[in-house]
Amino acid sequence: MIKGQSKKESGFSKPSVLEREFQATVIEMAKAFGWECFYIPDSAKAGAVGRPKGWPDLTLCHPVMRILIFAELKSDSRDSQPSTDQEKWLTILVNCGENVQLWRPAMWDHIEKVLQGPAERTLLALDRSDVGRWMR
Ligand SMILES: [Mg+2]
Repeated sequence: MIKGQSKKESGFSKPSVLEREFQATVIEMAKAFGWECFYIPDSAKAGAVGRPKGWPDLTLCHPVMRILIFAELKSDSRDSQPSTDQEKWLTILVNCGENVQLWRPAMWDHIEKVLQGPAERTLLALDRSDVGRWMR
């Protein structure tokens, strides 16, 4: 948990604005709700391990709900926008029909709904009308 922040009913606190801490909290909560998570801790070294530059931070798969999500994480700062490489991959994945999300700490309530389920609520959150959120 992040220091100085209160826990919500789920037991997870809204993370700080630092992307590294935000990612750690999202991963922790995702695993607690049964998601399998693929991520590379230091994205700057992604090329060295085979992940293309700009690939989303998190690949999340829920084996029970059968949902796959690609999530790019950004801080709440206005300056924190997807890079050109990130925009390329987010667009490719959206065009392939995948669930692509751009998540920021300010969107914590939305993220909790997506990760917690139940399935009906999760599917609503992942409705196609929501997929373009990352472009805002
Ligand atoms: Mg990121």
